Amino acid sequence: MSTDEPRIPGNFIRTIIDEDIAAGKNGGRVATRFPPEPNGYLHIGHAKSICLNFGIAEDYKGLCNLRFDDTNPHRENIEFVEAIQRDVSWLGYDWADRLFYASDYFDQLYGHAVDLIKKGRAYVCDLGPEEIREYRGTLTEPGRESPHRSRSVEENLDLFARMKAGEFEDGARILRARIDMASPNMNLRDPTIYRIRHGAVHHQTGEAWSIYPMYDFTHCLSDSLEGITHSLCTLEFEDHRPLYDWFLDVLEVECHPRQIEFSRLELEYTITSKRKLTRLVDEGQVEDWDDPRMPTIAGMRRRGYTSAALRDFCTRIGVTKSDNNVEMGVLENCVREDLNRCAPRRMAVLHPLKIVLENYPQDQVEELQAANHPQDESMGMRSIPFSRELYIDREDFREEAPRKFKRLVSGGEVRLRNAYVIRCDEVIKDSHGEVIELRCSYDAETLAANPEGRKVKGVIHWVSARHAIQAEVRLYDRLFSHPNPGRDGGDFLEYLNPESLLTLTHCYLESSLAGTVAGEYFQFEREGYFCVDAGHRAEKPVFNRTVTLRDSWARIEQKNK
Ligand code: ATP
Ligand code: MG
Repeated sequence: MSTDEPRIPGNFIRTIIDEDIAAGKNGGRVATRFPPEPNGYLHIGHAKSICLNFGIAEDYKGLCNLRFDDTNPHRENIEFVEAIQRDVSWLGYDWADRLFYASDYFDQLYGHAVDLIKKGRAYVCDLGPEEIREYRGTLTEPGRESPHRSRSVEENLDLFARMKAGEFEDGARILRARIDMASPNMNLRDPTIYRIRHGAVHHQTGEAWSIYPMYDFTHCLSDSLEGITHSLCTLEFEDHRPLYDWFLDVLEVECHPRQIEFSRLELEYTITSKRKLTRLVDEGQVEDWDDPRMPTIAGMRRRGYTSAALRDFCTRIGVTKSDNNVEMGVLENCVREDLNRCAPRRMAVLHPLKIVLENYPQDQVEELQAANHPQDESMGMRSIPFSRELYIDREDFREEAPRKFKRLVSGGEVRLRNAYVIRCDEVIKDSHGEVIELRCSYDAETLAANPEGRKVKGVIHWVSARHAIQAEVRLYDRLFSHPNPGRDGGDFLEYLNPESLLTLTHCYLESSLAGTVAGEYFQFEREGYFCVDAGHRAEKPVFNRTVTLRDSWARIEQKNK
């Protein structure tokens, strides 16, 4: 990734790191990690964490590892492992040879658990899940000690070895840390370290293990084994930090990373929870994880968002400990700004209305020249065929219209972008009174923009009927019709926006759009930014609208106020 892009601006995490470096901690070294659980695709919230972890490492000339937090074989699979690597890499970050799995450490973690038992700091407990909950107490009442808390070290070692050997059923026994059942911090009330997962097939370790370590135990030790200096995570882990430190202190490991928490990104009109995104996919509410309406990195990529725009967004939203609820418009503006800079301009008619220029020679075709970008000459020119029969957009014609309608009206004139001024002479309708064609005439003297004395109010886009390419165009809207779907109780699915996808099957594109490849993006003039869909092998090309030209959503909200 280029280093002259905006860097992560100052934030409280950098202040802490600066202080640690000044104090000579870790020999001035900075090492971070991004630790996804491979139980779903990454979403925009993960992008924040990726940019933070990799960005900090880059800025401090340190290293950032990609580590799969793979301790739950029931919910994880290799598809997710692969998708996550693809997404991090697409975002522009390189973990080089530092791709790790928590499961790489299963042997070491087992050894550490045995050490805890030997130190009298862990025990095998036979209480069932119900009883465990009951013994745990509440926020206002202390818990009660398990009857198995005083088992001898020998008995614990024997039972734990037999748990590993697969002698017991799921849930029959667990290994627990022996900390404090009366702690005001519930996480310290003898938390589970290992549970039995019989017959599970793990994507990395197969059927080698019958027991799996819990997140809190695994995470701190994986960080320590990798020599991580600053373990950045989201605020819900703040109450787990004493446990993170407890394991590392009691086990007297060499490297004791520092956990620092920041607030999760929440984006309005969508969701950033893998559990909920999984439901959308499993219940068929969207096409798949990479549906262009999804807030997943894969979905946003397919929608046409650029990785530069996502990194810019993550820089702009900043990193703090306070609520990070961000309006969708902030993300869309980043996308717009980037595409405005780099998307070639094209013409495309989404709701075609045929027009015939009756004074234009029958078989004549002119190759008109148009700039690919109005502000960037280096993007060059293209030629656009002009002929007697054209398509314009239905929205650009009204039989009668108020004065402020600047497009084509019956008997009026309009300029065709990059071409001539035309006049509408006759409106042809079908038997239902619907306009199906316009008879027009063109003025051959008007090819140069605004010839002397010529006043035309509007400019509209068009394509030559004979040369146009047919395409399907998909227009996307918010996936949810509520800014915080389901966060005030209720099922989030009730807030799905039924109009989040509008498919236009008969659109016409200018001929230079022949042969485009998946992922290529353009500005369709006056319509927005579009990209070639990657998810389909359809006969005609499919274009996704990435984003509109302006923030129409903000205007609608303004009006409703
Ligand atoms: P989810 O609640 O969506 O399942 P998670 O936290 O369980 O998310 P992980 O795969 O464990 O998902 O997350 C990997 C890393 O990304 C963690 O360090 C986590 O804190 C961070 N992360 C997850 N969601 C967000 C978010 N919305 N904003 C910022 N960071 C996030
Ligand atoms: Mg998690």
